[in-house]
Amino acid sequence: MVSKLYIDLDSTLVINPLETYVRPRLYSRVSRLLGISEEELSRLLGSYHLKFASAGDIRSYDWDYLLEEILRDHGIDKSVLDDLSFENLLREGCSNTVVLDDAPMVLQRLKDRGYRLVLATNGLWKYQECVLKESGLLPYFHSVITPDKAGCLKSSRRFYEYDGDLNDSASVGDNLVFDIYYPKSYGMVTILVKRPWNVGSRYAEAIGINPNDIRPDYVVTDLRSLPELLEKI
Ligand SMILES: [Mg+2]
Repeated sequence: MVSKLYIDLDSTLVINPLETYVRPRLYSRVSRLLGISEEELSRLLGSYHLKFASAGDIRSYDWDYLLEEILRDHGIDKSVLDDLSFENLLREGCSNTVVLDDAPMVLQRLKDRGYRLVLATNGLWKYQECVLKESGLLPYFHSVITPDKAGCLKSSRRFYEYDGDLNDSASVGDNLVFDIYYPKSYGMVTILVKRPWNVGSRYAEAIGINPNDIRPDYVVTDLRSLPELLEKI
């Protein structure tokens, strides 16, 4: 029987404006500073991100750190950015957070049924704080784990143990690697929230796993199916 749920944030409960608001604005301005295309900048950030993520380094999700690394590698001082940063743009555009699948209703129902709800995100607190507050989801959680709190990513057992032992725990999320592959290897029940977009395969490839070999225990396509599913587990 499952009694504790580790639930992912981005693309599971919300669409984070980091993707929809921040990246387009930041890429357009920074690519001009660097004299490269927006696609090239996006590709560069992606490759720095994956390099750090596959090493389990929490700086993989510190987008401002990665951006400064790219500038440094291009021989450009970070002062050119002035106050332009992922963090500042996210704060500016945080009201663009979109809540998915009636998430507050689903979380309330799970809470009423006695599950311990743990928000488990690879996003750093400096980025996720406004998203959690803007979405109104924060009060539903008994605890929140971010890499900067736990000192590791969701690839590490220690991340989950930040909220105690893993007995009767399930991981719920859209990322095949971080929400399914690793939690499953730690003995947790895994529930994939299958979204139309696929974010797992590039992480799987980065750590040398065939994404087709990753098998979640259960799959839902809408959060509203979760309470009923959990009753049966
Ligand atoms: Mg996610």
